[in-house]
Amino acid sequence: MQLCPHCGHQNYEGVVFCEKCGVALVPVPLSTRQLVEQEEAIIGTSELSDEGVLMLQLEDDMSPIMVQVRQEVILGRISEQSNTTSYINLSQYGADDLGVSRRHARMLRDDRAVYLMDLNSTNGTRLNGEILPSGVEKRLRDGDEIMLGRMRIFVYFKA
Ligand SMILES: [Zn+2]
Repeated sequence: MQLCPHCGHQNYEGVVFCEKCGVALVPVPLSTRQLVEQEEAIIGTSELSDEGVLMLQLEDDMSPIMVQVRQEVILGRISEQSNTTSYINLSQYGADDLGVSRRHARMLRDDRAVYLMDLNSTNGTRLNGEILPSGVEKRLRDGDEIMLGRMRIFVYFKA
């Protein structure tokens, strides 16, 4: 069995994404620098692959969070799980100090598209520097920059 570092679920050997929360169980070997250079070539795609894997790269953190978007992903400071919703708990990345709300924003999958929506967070959400009004859905593209309060996250679509 392999333990999920995110939610603690026991997964069978060889499972790439946690069956409970969708977070990748295998380490991503690329350094941040290689990653940025490689991804710049295909920046701008907004089509999610069939596996639906998004990579969330946090500032100053070398290992990105890989998440399989089944239906909905909640970004914030809670770690519940359900079959359709993944909760990404950003507490270990200093979310509290950076003004991230418990349920800050959500990413919603619609076929091959992913939409970002602010969930009436205290400190707001920005997409590529622009304030995202609460309740408004904006389609995400590869390479987008999301600000949750003062936490900066880059989103990459896995080809
Ligand atoms: Zn998990």
